[in-house]
Amino acid sequence: MTAGAIAAEPLGVACPMDLGWRYASGAAMERFLAGLRERRIEALRCDGCGRRYLPPRPLCGDCRLPLDRWVPVAAAGTLEAWSVYRLPILDGRTGEPRPTPYGIGLVRLDGADTTINHLLAETDPGRLRIGLRVRAVWREELRGALDDILHFEVAR
Ligand SMILES: [Zn+2]
Repeated sequence: MTAGAIAAEPLGVACPMDLGWRYASGAAMERFLAGLRERRIEALRCDGCGRRYLPPRPLCGDCRLPLDRWVPVAAAGTLEAWSVYRLPILDGRTGEPRPTPYGIGLVRLDGADTTINHLLAETDPGRLRIGLRVRAVWREELRGALDDILHFEVAR
């Protein structure tokens, strides 16, 4: 190899690790995730400005007031932004590369004022647009996790 040349193959060093961990999602996310196990989606509403946060958060970003008023949110909403990925990234649930293409969208569910970031069933950019109506597709066996919603599909 000459000076400045780049190796064709990256060097790799095996480093097997068994890293199991648990983390606290916080009181707001804990209730939100428990609701998903019952196909219930809830947002936290600010008593000061009325803004309904989904995902829920402990404080209003505008008023700085603590939030504790839960309000129901629909499992359908509007696509506010989207992207179709053609490069694989590691799936956080499996540790394996996610099959491509896959869609990611910011979805504002009916009854919420903020968006959640989630997978989209549709991967054809010609069929995706801001303002598109979408609905949640639920996993058959719910476990109180964000992927209880498998993805959002175009509402017909
Ligand atoms: Zn507020």
